Amino acid sequence: MGAQEGGCACGEVRYRMRSAPIVVHCCHCRWCQRESGSAFALNAVVEADRVELTAGTPERIDTPSASGSGQAVFRCPACKVAVWSHYAGAGEKACFIRVGTLDDPDACPPDAHIFTDSKQPWVLLPDAAEAFGIFYSGKDVPRIYGEDGAARWRRLKES
Ligand SMILES: [Zn+2]
Ligand SMILES: [Zn+2]
Repeated sequence: MGAQEGGCACGEVRYRMRSAPIVVHCCHCRWCQRESGSAFALNAVVEADRVELTAGTPERIDTPSASGSGQAVFRCPACKVAVWSHYAGAGEKACFIRVGTLDDPDACPPDAHIFTDSKQPWVLLPDAAEAFGIFYSGKDVPRIYGEDGAARWRRLKES
């Protein structure tokens, strides 16, 4: 998978993700459940400089997060759908794109399930899924991200 486009529900905000994501997280934390009104959030992590706005300007809404450090959620100013977030850690260097806003969300299945300690019990994960009660550790990164993804993540953190 290469570049992909996406946008909000009303069409005012459109963006292009110029590379495949570094990693895709499926987060089962209660905060993501509350925020999405659903069972989990699906986020494609990509370098912010590989995300290009092609229409509109999302507004930044600072929102609490499970870590306590908060997240900056970027929403369409008209329909308020969230298109991506910045989290503490990589900060503004990484966009956590809401996979459901991609035109082809099927292209970004999760690489890792996180916060499965609070996973809703009806959500059944495949046996082969990478699943973590809270979060994975650094030693898991090369396996989950792949060699290329791990290198991109390292470069991003060092930039
Ligand atoms: Zn909109
Ligand atoms: Zn979460």
